[in-house]
Amino acid sequence: MRRTLYLKFIVGYLLFGLFGFLIVASFVSNMTSDQVRREAGENLYRQATQIANTYAADLYNTEISLDSAGRQLRAIASYTGTEIWILNPSGRLVVSTARNISPDEEVFIENFSPNLSGGALYQEGTFFGAFDEPHLSVLAPISSNFRIRGYVAIHLPMSQIRTRSDRYMNISWLLLLILLLLSLIILIFFTELVYIPLKKIIRATEQYASGNMHYQFSVDSSDEMGYLAATLGYMANEIAGAEDDQKKFIANVSHDFRSPLTSIRGFLTAMLDGTIPAEMHEKYLQIVLNETDRLTKLTNSLLTLNNLNTRGTLLARTDFDINGTIRSVGASFEQTCRAKGITLELVLLGEQLYVNADKERIEQVLYNLIDNALKFSPRGSTVRIETTERHSKIFVSVRDNGIGIPKNDQKLIFDRFYKTDLSRGKDKKGTGLGLSIVREILRAHDENINVISTEGVGSEFIFSLRRSDLNDELDD
Ligand code: ADP
Repeated sequence: MRRTLYLKFIVGYLLFGLFGFLIVASFVSNMTSDQVRREAGENLYRQATQIANTYAADLYNTEISLDSAGRQLRAIASYTGTEIWILNPSGRLVVSTARNISPDEEVFIENFSPNLSGGALYQEGTFFGAFDEPHLSVLAPISSNFRIRGYVAIHLPMSQIRTRSDRYMNISWLLLLILLLLSLIILIFFTELVYIPLKKIIRATEQYASGNMHYQFSVDSSDEMGYLAATLGYMANEIAGAEDDQKKFIANVSHDFRSPLTSIRGFLTAMLDGTIPAEMHEKYLQIVLNETDRLTKLTNSLLTLNNLNTRGTLLARTDFDINGTIRSVGASFEQTCRAKGITLELVLLGEQLYVNADKERIEQVLYNLIDNALKFSPRGSTVRIETTERHSKIFVSVRDNGIGIPKNDQKLIFDRFYKTDLSRGKDKKGTGLGLSIVREILRAHDENINVISTEGVGSEFIFSLRRSDLNDELDD
């Protein structure tokens, strides 16, 4: 397939050359010889008329002698390469520049008729059989006292006409050759600018198609070819990145599933073979239950993430009171707060504060953030949730006085499965998916989330939401 494009171009070029040759050989050649013949004929006729009006008329009016007229005409004939005759209306040759005719000699042109092929200015042929070779002949009447006294005939051998038109044809051939050489430049340009880059691109697509997404190539041009190559390279890079992410993701998922399954299996085996005595069963069954809870949570999180990742996540946007939502999500943590002696402090702007978003998903965001804040806070501390309004945006902040997040980890905590070393001891159940779900939900809303944190002091997560116009209506 690759070779045919080039082949087609070469065939096109050869066809161009062939048609050029045919056109020059037939059309141009005919046109040139026609033109040369016409010009020569018209010239000869002009000469003949001139001679008829001057030397020939003088001869008939006996103003010059036959000899002197013959001499003059011979000079003209040799200069122009023609043969000039003066004929009587009867066809008798009076003067010929090709030979001397004595006055007594009677040379007749057989079948002479002054009407040259239907009134044309010139005629091609042997002039009533007077020549063996074809000639171009013209005939001009010599008149004196309103009578035709004779004719001036001028003959030019056709071989001369052919030589002349051959000279013009040589120029045409040379032009064709130059044109073909110049169009060779187009072929070279095509090869350099289209064919070679195209070959590189095809080779790359073959590599990508066979799965080698890390294949590198470059086309150094800023035209469409360069753009195509760059786009293709970018696409392959993205796919390669997605593949790597996928592999990492599956490795993480497998790992996170395997550890609870291993511990469940370990405890159940120990219970069955009696390593764990029957009176301890309840304690270990509780651990097994916790592990299955963890597996359920992991599965749910994965499903949520999967739904969110599908392009163009459909949001069920409504106008709802974010303050009320914070209150109700906070209330669901009452048990946990009491157990850890943590106070949830709500600093909410106004009584009601309407935002436009997908309520259920924002509840999930709040749930994940508060859950983290509580998990990583020491006993007896305070977790503060605040709503503020700035530049027609509503900001929600969840702040704790917990372990904090090391600076280098702050960018990474939103990645799937990422957990800081600091938190590992404190949160054995964590999946590392909570914040990536938060980020995906806010991304789907076209909103942002930021984290400000100091290790050992605490963390604050702030996200933005679209303010609802309902607030203005309520104010009025
Ligand atoms: P998980 O479900 O394991 O909590 P997340 O994605 O919610 O996963 O959080 C990722 C990691 O970010 C956590 O494991 C923890 O290391 C860190 N992190 C998140 N929130 C906080 C916080 N409020 N204080 C300290 N570390 C946090």
